[in-house]
Amino acid sequence: MQRTFIAIKPDAIQRGLIGEVIRKFEKKGFKIIGLKILQLDRATAEKHYAEHVGKPFFESLVNFITSGPLVAMVLEGVNAVDAARKLMGATNPVNADPGTIRADYAHTMERNIVHGSDSPESAEREIGIFFDESELVPGWKRDLEERFISL
Ligand code: UDP
Ligand code: MG
Repeated sequence: MQRTFIAIKPDAIQRGLIGEVIRKFEKKGFKIIGLKILQLDRATAEKHYAEHVGKPFFESLVNFITSGPLVAMVLEGVNAVDAARKLMGATNPVNADPGTIRADYAHTMERNIVHGSDSPESAEREIGIFFDESELVPGWKRDLEERFISL
């Protein structure tokens, strides 16, 4: 079992897609163990995207991610980091495989609907930025899980 951090970005919220994005992860079999809506301040956004400091798109990325509310989410599942990124599709939606979230709902890299951690280490770092451990509900079981869900 692994955890990953997902953010449903402000563009998705403005377009009324929170439910659609959550539905994809939920139906895949991930367990939602943390969920909240918030608007990021600049300092927190810069911390979250620290690896991109100095890149040409950094300023516009921070402006965008702080422009409105986002939904922060922690998912639990087998290989959750890679599995979630596969379901999200490539960073540039033009290259995202059909059926992925970014392929279905986005067509530009700057407004690509969803963020997902790129490694287990990033996941733990990012979860720590958005959630207190006491806000998470790890390891809960679905009814009838043993019979119907092969997670
Ligand atoms: N981004 C952008 N222009 C670029 C590269 C990235 O606007 O040339 C944005 C895009 O929203 C992306 C985010 O910056 O999701 C973080 O980039 P990263 O390479 O980490 O992609 P991701 O991990 O989100 O697929
Ligand atoms: Mg990334």
